[in-house]
Order: sequence, then structure tokens, then C-alpha cells
Amino acid sequence: MRHRIAVIGGGPAGLTFACVLRRRGHPVTVLERDPAPDARPPGGTLDLHEGMGQLALGKAGLLAEFQALSRPEGQAMRILDADGTVLRDWRPRPGDRANPEIDRGQLRDLLLGPLDVQWGRGVTEVVPGTRDGVLVRFADGRQETFDLVIGADGAWSRVRPAISSATPYHTGVTLVETSLDDVDIRHPDLARLIGDGSMAVYGVNRALVAQRNSGGHVKVYAQFRAPLNWHTNLDLADVEAVRSSLLALFDGWAAPVLDLLRHGTAFVHRPLYVLPVSHTWAHVPGVTLLGDAAHLMPPLGVGANLAMLEGAELAESVAAAPGDLDEAVRAFEEQMWARAGRWAKITMAGLERLVSPDPTEALALFDEVQPS
Ligand SMILES: Cc1cc2nc3c(=O)[nH]c(=O)nc-3n(C[C@H](O)[C@H](O)[C@H](O)COP(=O)(O)OP(=O)(O)OC[C@H]3O[C@@H](n4cnc5c(N)ncnc54)[C@H](O)[C@@H]3O)c2cc1C
Repeated sequence: MRHRIAVIGGGPAGLTFACVLRRRGHPVTVLERDPAPDARPPGGTLDLHEGMGQLALGKAGLLAEFQALSRPEGQAMRILDADGTVLRDWRPRPGDRANPEIDRGQLRDLLLGPLDVQWGRGVTEVVPGTRDGVLVRFADGRQETFDLVIGADGAWSRVRPAISSATPYHTGVTLVETSLDDVDIRHPDLARLIGDGSMAVYGVNRALVAQRNSGGHVKVYAQFRAPLNWHTNLDLADVEAVRSSLLALFDGWAAPVLDLLRHGTAFVHRPLYVLPVSHTWAHVPGVTLLGDAAHLMPPLGVGANLAMLEGAELAESVAAAPGDLDEAVRAFEEQMWARAGRWAKITMAGLERLVSPDPTEALALFDEVQPS
């Protein structure tokens, strides 16, 4: 008998799982809360690592298409100090495809290609162990049962409470995201400052990071240490008020760097939450988690990579052991926990150094990880 398998969430984890499982000839139901693929802006750029995200795309049969879309030149990284002095300027070597960048929307469309996603299917609750399997309840009042439910529904997972009591907590660091469009034409000086990839400026307990996406689009992240209620006297919907507040926070930084904030079009508030490092749970038959739902960590370039690799690996395990689905899931969880635990420690330590009272810590961290 074919197992009834549902994946909740059409992000990198859920879509990769579904692509790989489908490629192995197994039907899978993808249930996504968003009403349509273009219901909200897809977000910034992602670098997919050779041994992680790219490996997963290979298992999904999508590596060649990824290589055609991705931007190897986006691996360039430039670091400035708050005075605007360029401290480091790394450029990828010709042919270097270790971590090329791809727009999140392009990646999503690539993964969506072979799939038939059910949009507008927000899950509210998952109840394991019913007579007919795992019960899934939806926001519209409907319910369905499955043999295996994969929670790939991100930081605020509605599947997670079925197997774990863990909830995300605030790291003490907040991001405020803004964007620039047509940067090469409208802001050529900024385009030159940013270069082909990313540019980061580190100061005391704060940083400004700009990342080039395709088509002259740039995402800017203002990062700073502050309590969750830092904006009590600020209307976050008031673009000019947020801009003034950020310019005050980064007061004294070089004018060309602050232009990233002066020209930003809108501001999105993203306090950084994480799950406890080494989050695990007692195995529950018929339910598991992938990606951010399992191990939310600071955004230091691995979250989507891990999510995709896990999606591909779980799909392969399930496809290889159709008789004993539960044993396959249990073995996968052990492997996921060990690897994600290591990355959670690395990224938490990394966040401490990148948004730090001592800005030289950020530079030292990059010197440790960048190829010389
Ligand atoms: C600013 C920023 C920059 C980042 N940069 C990088 C980077 O360069 N490289 C990298 O590897 N990682 C990066 N990350 C991390 C990365 O975005 C996440 O780790 C990754 O998106 C996790 O994928 P996921 O599929 O687990 O979850 P998500 O991407 O969060 O996808 C979850 C999906 O589930 C859906 N969903 C949610 N709730 C429900 C529900 N109740 N019912 C049905 N569907 C639901 C959502 O709509 C969404 O489509 C960054 C993160 C941030 C915040």
C-alpha cells in the first residue's frame, strides 16, 4: 500500500523533500499556507553551498538549471569599517562555484516546477496517533489524515507542538530590512561600493549588510542589539520615522554607507529568534520536522542549505524504506539532530562575534572562514 505523506510548508525544506520524493516515484501532498506563489515578496538572495543546497538540488535533478540561474560573482564579499575604509575585498576565482547566489524567488520557482502544491492550506494543528493516522486540521475548518506528516513550516511551526514543547526565543539582535531597486542606474556610487556580491560594515553592537540580488535589486539589513521593545515609541509602518530612527542609531558612520538607509524604499522589522541549540524531541511515529521548524538558527548562510539537504535526505530515506516508514524517519532524525546541533553552535557563536561590542571580532571571523 502507498503511504499517505504530507509536507506542511512550501519553503526550501518542504519543496526539496517533495521534489526528491516525487523523483523517486512516490506521491506527496504539499500543503502551503500562502494563497499563491506570489502572495508575498519572496525575500533576498541565498548562497547554496556545494555540499549542502547544491547537493540537494542534484538529488532533485535540478542542479543544471540552478547553475544556469545562479550568480557565482555574487560570492564576492567586501568589508568596511564605519568610516568607510575598505578592510577586505574578496572576489571569487574564475570557475569557483562553491557558494553561488540565487534569488529566493528563482529558487522557489525552480523547485515548484515539477510539483503540484495546494495553496491556501494553512495548518492549525497536527494530532498524531488517531485511529486513521495523523490528523491535520486546517484554518478553513477542514481536516485530513496521513501516515506521515512532515513539518516544514518554518520558525513558527504549527506542526512542532505535536512533538516538542520548544519555542523560539529572541537572540537580542534585530534586523531591519530595506531594499534598493535599479541600483546600477539610480545609485551608481552605491552599486560600486557594494560590488558584485555582498558588502558589510561592522561597528559597536551594530552592522549594515548589503546584498546584491539579480536585476539590480539590493537588500540591506541593519542589524543591532536591542530589546524586543526597542520600537515602543516608533510607528514601524511610518517609513520616514523608521529611516530617521535608523540613521540616528548609525549616527557618525560614513555618508556613503548611510546612503544605504537614506535610499531604502521600505523597512521590514525582523527580530532574530532561534530555537534552543541542539533541539531534539522524543520520536513520535508519523510526525517529524525539517529546516527552521526543527532548528531555527541565526541567518549566517546555512539555514536554507540545511533545510534543503534535510529535505533531500529524508525523501531518499523514505523512498528507500517504504516498508518501515517509521524506522527510516527515526534514523533520519538522529542524523539531522547531530548535524544541526553543530551548526546551531557555530551560528550562535558567529552572531555573537558579528554583532559585537568589539567590531574587530567580525573581521577576525571572516578572516577565519574566507579562503585566502
Ligand atoms: C534575513 C535572512 C537571510 C538569510 N540568508 C540565508 C542565506 O544566505 N543562506 C541560507 O542558507 N539561509 C539563509 N537564511 C535562513 C533561511 O531563510 C531559512 O533557514 C530557510 O528559509 C528555512 O527554510 P524552511 O523551508 O525550513 O522554512 P521557511 O523558508 O520559513 O518556509 C516555511 C514555509 O511554510 C509555510 N507555512 C508556515 N506556516 C504554515 C502553516 N501553518 N501551514 C502551512 N504552511 C505554512 C510558509 O508560508 C513558508 O512557505 C536567512 C534568513 C533570514 C531571516
